[in-house]
Amino acid sequence: RAKLLGKARRVVFDPAMYAQAVERLALERDLRHGLERGEFQIYYQPVLDVRTRRPVEVEALVRWHHPERGLISPGEFIPIAEETGLIVPLGHWVLAEACRQLAAWRTAFPDCAPSAVSVNLSARQFRHPSLTADIAQILAETGLPPASLKLEITESVMMDDTASTLEALRDLKQLGVQLAVDDFGTGYSSLSYLKRFPTDAMKIDRSFARGLDQSREDQALVEAMIAAANALRLQVTVEGVETEEQLEFLERVGCDLVQGFLFAPPMPPDEVARFLHTGLQTSGFHPPALL
Ligand code: C2E
Ligand code: MG
Ligand code: MG
Ligand code: MG
Repeated sequence: RAKLLGKARRVVFDPAMYAQAVERLALERDLRHGLERGEFQIYYQPVLDVRTRRPVEVEALVRWHHPERGLISPGEFIPIAEETGLIVPLGHWVLAEACRQLAAWRTAFPDCAPSAVSVNLSARQFRHPSLTADIAQILAETGLPPASLKLEITESVMMDDTASTLEALRDLKQLGVQLAVDDFGTGYSSLSYLKRFPTDAMKIDRSFARGLDQSREDQALVEAMIAAANALRLQVTVEGVETEEQLEFLERVGCDLVQGFLFAPPMPPDEVARFLHTGLQTSGFHPPALL
């Protein structure tokens, strides 16, 4: 027993763990201030139509310009924001800013503005009781048609606690926004929930795009996922497309939309505007039907 306690005590005072906890607390404090000080920025990644190879939508991906650490990617701070609940005000800011930006692009470039902006919702945001009301208010304030907003919810969030999940999805669907399952293929990938839940779109995780080059199994899996999406009349996107070969495969198997470094990385708004314009100039671009 004494030995066990001794062991536990050593764990408590482990300097590496202590340093990690201090680091986390610092990031947590910085996150709170960062939001007040306007240190966050949204980058947008173009999403292209596989057939026309033209950009039709964008995904909003948040970035943090930390005053000392420089640019921090969401993989590092979203989990902390989630655990501390700061994701709720941060996520609200992302939603409002992404909607404002899309409305501004439509005013500035009526012919080549994206038909929708995708915004990632975290589990905590998704469970927040005022989410639907908050989104309704943002749409009203920006004047954006609800169908121009696509909410990405990860497969793992959709999978747990199905009764309240279904209710939350229905509330959002009633607003008229689009719903997409993000990172599809990384969790249980139950096809039955896709049928039960009012989703409009499936985004296949980028780990599968990477596998397309070497693995017949990944090719078969992606083909099957796309076939399932098509059968359920879900629009299907593959993320992380980096090569022409991957693109050609995806076109062959009936994928609708693609995003990835082959076309463009996530970019600040002015670069996105340039990308959309360049698309317009280089080939007879037919503007997407605006929803
Ligand atoms: P996600 O929603 O699955 O976003 C796609 C990620 O794939 C982005 O990473 C994007 O930069 C990256 N990506 C796109 N194309 C390629 C490619 O061709 N190759 C490679 N290697 N990567 C590619 P990012 O921006 O670092 O975001 C990571 C994750 O952070 C997102 O994954 C999303 O889950 C989360 N996230 C980002 N912004 C937000 C936000 O505003 N709210 C919430 N709740 N989560 C966010
Ligand atoms: Mg996403
Ligand atoms: Mg994803
Ligand atoms: Mg992902």
